[in-house]
Amino acid sequence: MAERNRGVLYVVATPIGNLEDLSPRARDALAHVALIAAEDTRHTAKLLSHFGIRTPLVSLHDHNEAERTPGLIEKLSAGASLALVSDAGTPLVSDPGYQLVRAARAAGICVSPVPGACALIAALSASGLPTDRFVFEGFLPQKSAARQARLVELAGEMRTLVFYESVHRLVESLGDMAQTFGGERSAVIARELTKLHESLRDGTLQALAAWAKSDSHIGKGEVVVLVAGAAPESDVRDADAVLAVLLEELPVKQAAVLAAKLTGGKRNALYRRALEITKTQGS
Ligand code: SAM
Repeated sequence: MAERNRGVLYVVATPIGNLEDLSPRARDALAHVALIAAEDTRHTAKLLSHFGIRTPLVSLHDHNEAERTPGLIEKLSAGASLALVSDAGTPLVSDPGYQLVRAARAAGICVSPVPGACALIAALSASGLPTDRFVFEGFLPQKSAARQARLVELAGEMRTLVFYESVHRLVESLGDMAQTFGGERSAVIARELTKLHESLRDGTLQALAAWAKSDSHIGKGEVVVLVAGAAPESDVRDADAVLAVLLEELPVKQAAVLAAKLTGGKRNALYRRALEITKTQGS
């Protein structure tokens, strides 16, 4: 329970591109707190200046959060309300703030969210992929071997997968995903959301990897990668059973076309699976 006469820590979401996405409540909180803890004070100063807000700023980033937190908790305990912001979107979502929020809650200070933009939710909401269940994986490891190992762990995940990724690693990551999840898996690349060159491109992992490789603009901007979850094992077994029956009477291509109609599966994937089944039967 928060105690009386203590300040409130407002966790304030800021825009991920379009400044109009700063909510009136966020503006109000930023204008009326005693101090704003910001990931990058110069970056946030520009946002504040756009809205004519003059609240003082203090930096709070991955490298000073542990050391800054006790002083901020002291201020809150003494009655000052503070706001926490990151460079873009919702603080703590692949951004600093975790230690401060934990310490504030442990000290019985009221922590209140002021929700707004978040790239993963914005991307998911417009992706056309299932949203009833999803997993947010944040950033994949930067080194290829570690990234591939993580992807192997995720290959059977049936919920929609959401990743943040640096555009500089996008081609490599999509290639690794195509290899590990199968090139036929559906995916969406959400790029530059809420900005001038916003785009959402969908396709198979294989097609998106090829597109990313050939697009000369890919090295710029920000992206969220969303990947459809794995098909349930039972679907794979059902498709195999249907293919096995059809292959007794039909050539591979026709069997794949009919199996796609019967199971709702992807024709190319079923064609490749039909080839594998024929090979195994022949051996
Ligand atoms: N806290 C932020 C949020 O709520 O979305 C995320 C911060 S994380 C350090 C930055 C990553 O978010 C980028 O590398 C990119 O994957 C994603 N991102 C942020 N803004 C974006 C935008 N406008 N369009 C697409 N992706 C974006």
